[in-house]
Amino acid sequence: MSSNSKLLEDVKQHLCSCSAGLKITPDMEAFLKMPMRELYVSLPVHMDDGSIKVFKGFRVQYNEALGPTKGGIRFHPEETIETIRALAALMTWKCALHKLPLGGAKGGIVCNPKELSHREIERLSRAYIRGIYQIIGPDRDIPAPDVYTNPQIMAWMMDEYSKLEGKNVFGIITGKPTSLGGSAGRFDATARGGLYTIREAAEKLGMSLKDARVAVQGFGNVGYHAAYLAKKLFGCKVVAVSDSRGAIYSEKGLDPEDVSGHKHSTGSVLDYPGAKNITNKELLELDVEILIPAALENVITEENAERVKPIILAEMSNGPTTREAEKILSSNGVHIIPDILCNGGGVIVSYFEMVQNQSNIKWEEEEIQKRLERKMEEAYHSVYDFSTKNNTSMRKAAYTLAVGRVVEAMQLRGWI
Ligand code: NAD
Repeated sequence: MSSNSKLLEDVKQHLCSCSAGLKITPDMEAFLKMPMRELYVSLPVHMDDGSIKVFKGFRVQYNEALGPTKGGIRFHPEETIETIRALAALMTWKCALHKLPLGGAKGGIVCNPKELSHREIERLSRAYIRGIYQIIGPDRDIPAPDVYTNPQIMAWMMDEYSKLEGKNVFGIITGKPTSLGGSAGRFDATARGGLYTIREAAEKLGMSLKDARVAVQGFGNVGYHAAYLAKKLFGCKVVAVSDSRGAIYSEKGLDPEDVSGHKHSTGSVLDYPGAKNITNKELLELDVEILIPAALENVITEENAERVKPIILAEMSNGPTTREAEKILSSNGVHIIPDILCNGGGVIVSYFEMVQNQSNIKWEEEEIQKRLERKMEEAYHSVYDFSTKNNTSMRKAAYTLAVGRVVEAMQLRGWI
């Protein structure tokens, strides 16, 4: 099985694992294993050298029982419909788990943004919005940033949609720059939300976060802020970080802000003065208290799980742990904060952005952080309590709560 189909298969199996407890019929289960809508688009783009290149894109709207669908857009050379489908399913369960009035979606373009100029990325982003225009809207489906997309790309996308509508529609997309209807606190929301769950987990486990060793895989939006805030908020010692080219390790601890400056000037975290270059694989197997995957899916597998032994595994990326690996980690006593719980902060603050856009009110960053903290704490405790009461894993508890809410909405709407 390819790694793309693997994530989709695992997400389906997690759903099946809670079907019996929720009394989900086979018909209902079959429906929940499939997206409600998928769109494939071909995007011809004028390149800077005068040629025209055609890119492939997707938008998957997985389930809209709880509200308009929501989910990020990825730009990645190895993007596939299977990965996007799996990520759209994860968005559905994530929004339900965090009690947001939203369904789940995801989008992607098969491209390598590192090989495209600024203007080519702009033309591609605008072409994608024209391609999916008919199925999105502020009360239908609201995209957001994800891997290799950012606030500037969201601004172009909002602008293109607004042109097609003939008026400003800031609410079409979230993760925009704050000067264009973006929300305060969105830039670090995923990492900040994840760290609140780590704090709650540490309290349950009787573990001190001061000087706790942390390794973070990925140094983009989520990974950088996770490293920075772990040190700033809790006094953790960030001993390793990585990007697509490799990882760095320092027993004494790294200064994430300084590493970020080094990455900006050299293009990678590698060769950071005073740290040792290691591989991404080695980073996952370091002797640390907290491991934060914040890059791509399927990185902890049957092959390495026996050597991955943090006290807390905080899944800030989507789908970092395969089902087989999870069994091994659980038998080794690793406390897993599952992705749909741990990285929900991004969509929570995106939802706050939607609310602010709809009401034309701006909330201060402090207000956003307080609201985010409350929602993350509530979600963590509901999953933890369900898992201890029913003697199940944190992931199964999270899925059972989330899927139960989607099923209830489908029943009340008379779909099933
Ligand atoms: P990003 O594009 O900002 O950063 C991705 C990082 O991963 C980069 O540092 C990149 O160098 C690194 N990377 C890429 N390939 C790698 C590889 N093979 N090995 C190691 N590192 C690699 O993306 P992001 O927004 O930080 O997203 C990271 C993860 O978090 C993804 O799984 C995404 O779906 C998830 N997520 C993001 C948000 C959000 O708000 N941005 C919300 C929820 C979940």
